[in-house]
Amino acid sequence: MRYHGFPDVLTPAFPMHCPFCSANDTKVIDSRLVAEGDQVRRRRECLACGERFTTFETAELVMPRLIKQDGSRQPFDEDKLRAGMQRALEKRPVSVERLEEAIAHIKSKLRATGEREVKSLVLGELVMAELQKLDEVAYIRFASVYRRFQDLNEFREEIERLSREPSKA
Ligand SMILES: [Zn+2]
Repeated sequence: MRYHGFPDVLTPAFPMHCPFCSANDTKVIDSRLVAEGDQVRRRRECLACGERFTTFETAELVMPRLIKQDGSRQPFDEDKLRAGMQRALEKRPVSVERLEEAIAHIKSKLRATGEREVKSLVLGELVMAELQKLDEVAYIRFASVYRRFQDLNEFREEIERLSREPSKA
């Protein structure tokens, strides 16, 4: 679908040519992830004629690699992520659909970093944030393993902190 002054360019040539005057001097004025992070929607402005247009570009589908605490690098492993979250969610009232949504959010956020490598801690924090929205028991199960709580007091503090927060439906 095309609108005058607002064309959708689906497969942009690179460098980006203005669809109005063909100049390739364009500037990105807005950029956001769409389609669960599989595409980047960009608003561009032509520096030659001043027209604005929108492009949908395929986001980098390669996930950033994970930097482990010992400094080694590992490729992102979606199956491993899913297995870890399923373990935390075992026998909890959370549908497969909601788990898949959470995984899509995590992947989208990892891609949105724009980094080629991120610390595995970043992934751990993203998982905890999603689990906390899904189910507090699953969150505590995951966090207690993931953070390897120093001692029981720290664990208790975390539970108290959670119980003070209004529960999220
Ligand atoms: Zn132009």
